[in-house]
Amino acid sequence: TEFAIRLVGLNKYYGQYHALRNVDLAISRGQRIVLCGPSGSGKSTLTRCMNLLERPESGKVEIEGVNILERSAAAAAALRRVGMVFQQFNLFPHKTILQNCVLAPLLVARQPTAIAEERALHFLDKVRIADQAHKYPSQLSGGQQQRAAIARALTMDPEILLFDEPTSALDPEMIKEVLDVMVALADEGRTMVCVTHEMGFARQVADRVLFMDEGSIVEDRDPQSFFEAP
Ligand code: ADP
Ligand code: ADP
Repeated sequence: TEFAIRLVGLNKYYGQYHALRNVDLAISRGQRIVLCGPSGSGKSTLTRCMNLLERPESGKVEIEGVNILERSAAAAAALRRVGMVFQQFNLFPHKTILQNCVLAPLLVARQPTAIAEERALHFLDKVRIADQAHKYPSQLSGGQQQRAAIARALTMDPEILLFDEPTSALDPEMIKEVLDVMVALADEGRTMVCVTHEMGFARQVADRVLFMDEGSIVEDRDPQSFFEAP
């Protein structure tokens, strides 16, 4: 398959509320998607369906051709190819930055400690906070915490990276340092899906802009045409 992610007939309900309405979407490998739309339109839900943080009631979620809604070893392996960065960082507060970054490599990938730590430090260096590795999240600025969360996602070497409003919780002066890291990542060939209101990022990096409204994708454009005023 040439698709990193393919959603077919996806429906998600919260009780009676129909949050995703029969969504179809195919994302090619290496594509960089920006997902925008009004608050409550389903962007977060759609993104979270791509790694099963939400489970849709019907439809298919294929990662590299494997439907991850089916319970199988192949589905579990496909799911591990997806990394995610959240608005609220979601770092464990009682673990250091380095400990946060080696958790999945140790527990999920069962890497030896020395190798996991070396790799984690490599990625922390890449997001320019290797010098903060032994601090706790609360000792870092918001921008540093978010860069740590990006490094943590990278330690599992995901082919697909999901970002759910990664800069929304940051003070203005910290947004740029996180966006700079994301722009650098965009050159590495991973598939990226980013829920963001940062249109600068969309302009610079996205090769496809999706617009959601009321649980549906209502626009699917290349950024050039999206940013041209009609
Ligand atoms: P967006 O990311 O575009 O702001 P969300 O995917 O967060 O939208 O939410 C879509 C809709 O689903 C909203 O109306 C929201 O209130 C509702 N919703 C989201 N999560 C839940 C939940 N866990 N329980 C009930 N309703 C939810
Ligand atoms: P977003 O930043 O994606 O818009 P929200 O601030 O709407 O997210 O929601 C934050 C959290 O609250 C999410 O985990 C979401 O699932 C949950 N949530 C959102 N709307 C509702 C709702 N109506 N009922 C219960 N949980 C909700």
